Amino acid sequence: MAKVQESRTQSLEDSVRFLPGVGPVLANELAKIGIRTVRDLLLYLPYRYEDRRHFFRIKEIKPDGSFYQIKATVLNFRSRRSAWRPVTVQQALVKDDSGALVLTWFNQDYLTDLLEKGKDFVFYGKVVRDPRFGLQMVSPDVSKTTDQEISVGRILPVYSLPSRRVSQKKFRKIVFSALERYSHLLPDRFYFHQCWKMADLKLSLEEAIWEVHFPSDDVRLVWAKERLIFEEFFSFCWEVERHKRSSRKSRTVFYELEKNDVLRFYLDHLGFEFTPAQKRAIEEIVSDFKEGRIMHRLLQGDVGSGKTAVALYLSALAVGSGYQVAFMVPTEILAFQHYSKAKTLFPSDRVVLLTSSIKGEEREEVLRRLKEGDAVLAIGTHSLIQPDVQFSRLSLAIIDEQHRFGVRQRLQLIEKCPEVDMLVMTATPIPRSLAMTLYGDLDLTVIDSLPPGRKEVQTIWITSDKRERLYRFLREEVEKGHQVYIVYPLVSESDDLDLLAAEEMYEFLRKEIFPDIELGLIHGKMNSKTKERVMSEFYAGKIKILIATVVIEVGIDVPNATVMVIEHAERFGLSQLHQLRGRIGRGEHESYCIVVSDTSNEETKRRLGAFVKYKDGFRLSEVDLALRGPGEFRGERQHGPTEFRLGNPITDFSILKRARMCVSKYYDWFVSRGGEIWSFLK
Ligand code: ADP
Ligand code: MG
Repeated sequence: MAKVQESRTQSLEDSVRFLPGVGPVLANELAKIGIRTVRDLLLYLPYRYEDRRHFFRIKEIKPDGSFYQIKATVLNFRSRRSAWRPVTVQQALVKDDSGALVLTWFNQDYLTDLLEKGKDFVFYGKVVRDPRFGLQMVSPDVSKTTDQEISVGRILPVYSLPSRRVSQKKFRKIVFSALERYSHLLPDRFYFHQCWKMADLKLSLEEAIWEVHFPSDDVRLVWAKERLIFEEFFSFCWEVERHKRSSRKSRTVFYELEKNDVLRFYLDHLGFEFTPAQKRAIEEIVSDFKEGRIMHRLLQGDVGSGKTAVALYLSALAVGSGYQVAFMVPTEILAFQHYSKAKTLFPSDRVVLLTSSIKGEEREEVLRRLKEGDAVLAIGTHSLIQPDVQFSRLSLAIIDEQHRFGVRQRLQLIEKCPEVDMLVMTATPIPRSLAMTLYGDLDLTVIDSLPPGRKEVQTIWITSDKRERLYRFLREEVEKGHQVYIVYPLVSESDDLDLLAAEEMYEFLRKEIFPDIELGLIHGKMNSKTKERVMSEFYAGKIKILIATVVIEVGIDVPNATVMVIEHAERFGLSQLHQLRGRIGRGEHESYCIVVSDTSNEETKRRLGAFVKYKDGFRLSEVDLALRGPGEFRGERQHGPTEFRLGNPITDFSILKRARMCVSKYYDWFVSRGGEIWSFLK
């Protein structure tokens, strides 16, 4: 067996079963966390490290909550059944030249064979003071002194291992042996040519993968991370570049710009004139059609700038020319809103809605009508890009609130229908240089001013003791015929968090404060029929005060709403607050955004202060960046689903820029080398 293994060619795609110590049971456990091949294993990166470089002497250690590593000789060991609990207890007395210490474990029966009297071991754990034994180390990690490379005297990786059957120690061992056997296979594509200089990297990929699992010191760990982030950004920029080049084909679809009844109907029913900024945007986009290019554009415009109307104008162009349009939005509520709006502006029986709660026969019917071309404007969520959704003559895809989807999903969509015009909309203002990298395959169109007659929203920060006055104020606004949103961070009360929650507050406000006013409740955990009903009642003005969670954060458009109350405002990021405030100030009435927060945290105070002071999304995004430290970006929901596993396009922007430069300069050269190596970090 061993012979056979040696003679075959190794590859990163080898099953982890080829590694020593990995049997079928372990392989099965690893598969549960997505590790099947050696590549998967090598790319399963630690989420933190333990610095075990230093050995302490027993007399130095203290019960201060920190971890200590000692090297000591076993003087005595015993294992017994606990008198109190259904567990076994193992205790060892160990010593070094400075003193002795008691160690205690529970249910670790295997230690009986391991901890031989008179032998030396390395122990790592926290110390507590015990009334009977004095200082005591509880459940320390045990290593043999011979375990040099992987558990003793170095910085150790800690992995996220949900299965109890795979210990950190075991996992480190197999990662180590995978590195020993396979790391030389890691492709090193920047190590040659001028590219290496431009990329300004300190380590080869092989070195970086070693260092990120078993760092030799803090500096090299930083270099290693940088190297891997570069790798990831490079793959990303590579895809963007590929799309950019492939979409520069000439178009085969032609729109009827002159005699277009659908477009005329749309403009007749719109109810307002386009602003100069909207007109400019439309002209820019239509120039692609006129000049025979496939249109792939990012439409950027602050919250409330009127992007929807522009998108629907283009939809009317396409539909009136005999084509179909897919309009994708991130939430069901928003899909429903756009759908209701579109039905008044288009031939209403040819507009369809597709979300995950449209199922069974209803769904079949929608799919059939799209496939046969009878339905021409499909508005929906992710459901629109399911494999079984087929169009007969799709020519335009629109993605609203792109920042909620992630860049990769967009690339997938282009992959699926490369010939289709694509309009990607976002209000998240990011610096131009970053936009040009993240959206490098798209042309940029900006709507740089708001529709006329908008009054600036007055923003006020109050503390919770002012709530009674607040409620009086809300009552006055409702009596003037206006509507109100109150947003809470939670759906329902939780034991862990001392926060007001939408459900409980809805009950309270309805019974105690506003018994005579129509209130509504909406949150993401409701079924879609209820959501739909509540939103229509709010649109219709029947519900006066809408109690909500952040489900209403993006896109919702009710011009008669004049007040946005945000409870526990400290829980929200700046761009989220800005989106929420964007829900009001859409009509001609004076509007108020009231943030309620008792925060004493300095950073939060600065954030809320900036929110009160600045109304412009660009300005706010700058403040946001300045307030965040490096590394705080990942996983934050206000920036949408994490698109990158390792890098953060904002805080690691300099790496992203270098990756982008390398791609544009050496794209052709890399293509000539060919190969699938580009997907290394996907
Ligand atoms: P966003 O860019 O945030 O998606 P919307 O498309 O929701 O903005 O538009 C915000 C509001 O402004 C809507 O009520 C819309 O009907 C209105 N609106 C859009 N364009 C104009 C315009 N040119 N004149 C007046 N109102 C407009
Ligand atoms: Mg919008």
